[in-house]
Amino acid sequence: MGKENSSERVVLHIPVDISAEEFAAYCRIKKNSAAFEMLEDTYPLIKQYGSPKAIIRWANVDSVIEDRTTIEGVTFQSKVVADKLKGLQRVFLSVVTAGEGLEKSGKFNGDPFLNTYDGALLFLASRYTIGYMKNKFGFDGSSMLNPGSLPDWPIINNFALFDIIGNAGEIGVSLNEAGYIRPWNSGSHIHFSGDGYHNCSLCKKLDCIGRRARFDRDEYIRIFGEEP
Ligand code: SF4
Repeated sequence: MGKENSSERVVLHIPVDISAEEFAAYCRIKKNSAAFEMLEDTYPLIKQYGSPKAIIRWANVDSVIEDRTTIEGVTFQSKVVADKLKGLQRVFLSVVTAGEGLEKSGKFNGDPFLNTYDGALLFLASRYTIGYMKNKFGFDGSSMLNPGSLPDWPIINNFALFDIIGNAGEIGVSLNEAGYIRPWNSGSHIHFSGDGYHNCSLCKKLDCIGRRARFDRDEYIRIFGEEP
């Protein structure tokens, strides 16, 4: 593992300081709806107890050889990771979480929207983290790869990614034995400056309601060398 100093690894405690209208949009709740009125009542508690956090860490890309990419001495086997990181020297790694502030407060027991609120806090944390990379380091980290999003780079790779990032427990995050992140509304990523890549562009779940990019069949064939 590479050397670490305070400029390479940053822990972010992310403020919940957006308006109720913006937060509602993150929840996909329309203004002028009954759900929005409920959210407006609840939002002061979300601001008070929400605890999104992140760890970001600069990491050197040591080499990319065929489908093997070595980052800080750790080798990942994945065609898409190799394709996207070829020619790059440095990337940001991140673990981002909604945190468990709402659950632990006890104020949201039985609230059917708790998972929606946590999903919105994760989205807020991800946006903040990418903005932080841009503002502090001049780095466009909006192109991201994350373990488990494609069969080509399965969730088990979280163990190695977490090893490089180090001490995710510092923000209350851990992995279960299969490599899934706890708490559930959390994510891990390699951020690279580049082409606006989004995992959805190579994901074959065509009917996914969370899709954020069109499936790119030509790109799929170019990277994986086979028909989808
Ligand atoms: S299409 Fe859906 S399942 Fe596939 S990567 Fe995008 S959000 Fe995930």
